[in-house]
Amino acid sequence: MNNNVGMESIDQLYRIGRGPSSSHTIGPERACIAIKNRFTDADFIKVVLYGSLAKTGEGHGTDVVILKTLFPVKCEVVFNTEEESIPHPNTMDFMIYRQEALLSVVRVMSVGGGRILFENEEETKAPIVYGLNKFHDIAEYCNSKMIRLWQYVEENEGPKVWDYLSLVWDTMKESIKRGLFDEGVLPGGLDVHKKAKQLYNNQHVDESQQTKENRLVCSFAFAVSEQNASGETIATAPTCGAAGVLPAVMYYNQLKNGYTDRQILQALATAGLIGNIIKTNASISGAECGCQAEIGSACAMAAAALAQLFDLHIDKIEYAAEIAIEHHLGLTCDPICGLVQIPCIERNAVAAMRAINAVNLASFLWDTRKISFDRVVQTMKETGHDLKASYRETSEAGLARIKL
Ligand code: SF4
Repeated sequence: MNNNVGMESIDQLYRIGRGPSSSHTIGPERACIAIKNRFTDADFIKVVLYGSLAKTGEGHGTDVVILKTLFPVKCEVVFNTEEESIPHPNTMDFMIYRQEALLSVVRVMSVGGGRILFENEEETKAPIVYGLNKFHDIAEYCNSKMIRLWQYVEENEGPKVWDYLSLVWDTMKESIKRGLFDEGVLPGGLDVHKKAKQLYNNQHVDESQQTKENRLVCSFAFAVSEQNASGETIATAPTCGAAGVLPAVMYYNQLKNGYTDRQILQALATAGLIGNIIKTNASISGAECGCQAEIGSACAMAAAALAQLFDLHIDKIEYAAEIAIEHHLGLTCDPICGLVQIPCIERNAVAAMRAINAVNLASFLWDTRKISFDRVVQTMKETGHDLKASYRETSEAGLARIKL
């Protein structure tokens, strides 16, 4: 997090990888790849997981991802749940050996959204491509140049951003399509059945248009979230756990209103900007700020994207995103058994509907608003830091106490 400089590319926010958790699977996966590339002569690596990685890593399959990614190097994964003196809630140490001699110890933090930081290493940071990082400043700039938010993204990222967003959108659509046909029980032992297909197909006899919209949007959110929980490939938006919200809203509106892929990409660029502002000024990590940082951020991104699809004024886009995140303030992260299933999957569906609602409210009430998006992002960060640690992806409190 850095409040004084700009922002990284949105390709650091939208990542394509295997679920179920951007901080617990994609981040460690990327750390393992980097370690493997640095220490090509290693023949044994001991990985010690701390904090949330230690407490919920087994449920998320962190150890399985580490073993698979470091293969064929021999590896041992240790869950250290006792150590509290760590620089970040998702910290891991790599002890790299060659012929039983310790070559190096490298500490890596998985800081949310699949992003990793090596301790004391500046160069691992992604380059800053945006000069601004507050919505207020970006909106002022866009208004002065009479450009849309997605044009601001293109101006800063270059035209290559469309190729990347196209890949992201293809991945999102693929997750929905796969999820709508998939059946069976999710891994992890909670006996949670996949429900996207059922939701998609089981129409009410006297279903109203509104109920149908609700059912379809929810089915798309379930589809992506269940693919994520199954360890399949998804696009983070902004994280794995919250990956179903944005695609559900976009996919439904493309089906309903016939928006072109080009328009969807412009909406994804707008959403990416919103997610990036949150990531830079607060957090998108459940381990750092609770579920408000994941689902709340995803809801704000989806609301901004939909407002862009509707071609609403920049003030209305801001209000929609602000409403979306404001009404997730204080939302805790307490997945049962550390699995990204309960409450995560339903929560994606509820947030998708809430994003649509936020856009409706914003389009009618935008000139009455009192709170800026930047202010609510700041509040989310403060609230997240005030949350007891047990409500930040440790699976020690809240719903996680329920024994199924
Ligand atoms: S409760 Fe929210 S933040 Fe926590 S794992 Fe589930 S989706 Fe992610």
